[in-house]
Amino acid sequence: MTVTGPVAAADLGVTLPHEHVFLDLTREYRGNGLLNDTALAESELKRYVDAGGRTLVDVTTGGLDGDPVALRAMAEATGLQIVRGAGYYRRAYFPPEVDELSTDALADLIVRDIEEGTDGVRAGIIGEIGCDRYVSALEERSFRAAARAHRRTGLTITTHAARWPVGTAQLDLLVEEGVDPSRVVIGHCDMVPDHDYHRALVERGAWIQFDTVQGVHEWDTQQRLGWLRSLADAGHLGRVLLSQDVCLRSDYAAMGGPGYAYVVTTFADRLREAGFDDADITMLTVDNPRRMLTGE
Ligand SMILES: [Zn+2]
Repeated sequence: MTVTGPVAAADLGVTLPHEHVFLDLTREYRGNGLLNDTALAESELKRYVDAGGRTLVDVTTGGLDGDPVALRAMAEATGLQIVRGAGYYRRAYFPPEVDELSTDALADLIVRDIEEGTDGVRAGIIGEIGCDRYVSALEERSFRAAARAHRRTGLTITTHAARWPVGTAQLDLLVEEGVDPSRVVIGHCDMVPDHDYHRALVERGAWIQFDTVQGVHEWDTQQRLGWLRSLADAGHLGRVLLSQDVCLRSDYAAMGGPGYAYVVTTFADRLREAGFDDADITMLTVDNPRRMLTGE
């Protein structure tokens, strides 16, 4: 389900699994954390379309002030297929309902966003849902509500697990609620420089997502390429997702950042230089995100 209606799995094409179009992160990133300029957003998204991009998963969830109606207008203006996320981001951003409602009532709200939508714009994935260093009490409720909404709708759950290896606890919680690990994406794995952690998650059957592949320094890129080589050698490349997580103004290509096209342009070239072939790149940018979204 995209913001402009259903799309056949075979038509998803090149897909970015973890990005943001409109959001407000200014409580943490003052001066840089607001994406609300529609003309700028359109020109940034067009760079991805021009590079062959067909689909983008916008994982902007409750508390991040996404704008579903503006998002649908962006899909119409650019021709991009955009999938939007349901659920709640993390504690620092939670609206009062996460504290005030029961876990099942929260699940009802997520299911309503999936089945009826917000302002008529339906969600096609659950997440990003997350926490910081540990899963707090309220975040545990957000995870359990997401799991229950998944069991009622069949949509994949995608998480935020940045800097700390907290994806393990997130996966434990979802599995405890009856979610199959193959329907869970642990986000921001490349921000946790512990390859044993990455390996353990894929060996449990979850998706691992390297969604800041641009890194900050050349060392970061080399580290990510090394992890991908190790995963490929172990037969795990079919469980890896790549994205750029554009979420700050400085992430825009016009501001000198990676923009939305980095994965399919610069990073694809780096993968080829590192010995990956076109079939590997198609797996990472087309097949894996399709299988992740559909449960295929
Ligand atoms: Zn995140």
